[in-house]
Amino acid sequence: MEYLSAAAGDRWHAVAAAAAGTVIGLDFDGTLAPIVDDPAQARLHPQAHGVLVELAEVFAGVAIITGRPARQVIALGELDDVADAFTERGTVLHVLGQYGNETWSSQQRRIVSPRPPRGLGAFLADLPATLRAAGAPDAYVEEKGLAVAVHTRRLPDGPEAFGRLMTPLRQLATTHGLVLEPGRSVIEARAPGTHKGDAVVRLARELDASGFLFAGDDLGDIEAFAAVAELRGAGLATLLVCSSSDEQGALLSLADIAVPGPDGVLDLLRRLSADAREAAQPS
Ligand SMILES: [Mg+2]
Repeated sequence: MEYLSAAAGDRWHAVAAAAAGTVIGLDFDGTLAPIVDDPAQARLHPQAHGVLVELAEVFAGVAIITGRPARQVIALGELDDVADAFTERGTVLHVLGQYGNETWSSQQRRIVSPRPPRGLGAFLADLPATLRAAGAPDAYVEEKGLAVAVHTRRLPDGPEAFGRLMTPLRQLATTHGLVLEPGRSVIEARAPGTHKGDAVVRLARELDASGFLFAGDDLGDIEAFAAVAELRGAGLATLLVCSSSDEQGALLSLADIAVPGPDGVLDLLRRLSADAREAAQPS
């Protein structure tokens, strides 16, 4: 665990002290689930269930905020069991899928989702020709319902293919009224105007939060980091955690604390829960 900001130690203690009013926002891939070659094979870190339940005991709420469809994260993370544990503790687990476009909670157990954006079907129809022209016909295309993701991790020339695809995919997305979101070996086209920052602001308001911690690892988490920094400006106790990797360093300049991947995130959350429990003891 590495402190990146001068205020990191103070922010840690402020969040521990404000735990009962603090929301914990967590990205999924690269933060709670180790990155794997086949995104369909991603699983929660083996210690994640236990740590999430520990969070439920001391914090105001926990939200998994992800680019994946909510249904996928609930299935891959086997979150129904965790949701039951949250209900027993009177806390709510939220899953905000597709950058907050989809919502699910341990109370409702039902995914609420908007319609797919106009232009997504036409984007998908034009995609094979664009991939062929860019010399990446075998890139794995994932239809996410509200977005389309092009994965380059399993291509023999993955990093180069990623570079070749950015411009033509951006052109294709723009043609169909969509925006492009690059990530770790993935390029995603989706409707403009929704990002994880909106999800953070909405949750903080709905839960009347007095604190907010967010942990993430990738470019799609930048807006969430920015939203939490704004909450800090409004007086909330906040902590920003970067789950660091060799692949992506963009969050390091924004984070309070860097930890080595999902192992480090879970270790940090366990320590913070322990400090929060201690802070809540009558002295
Ligand atoms: Mg991630």
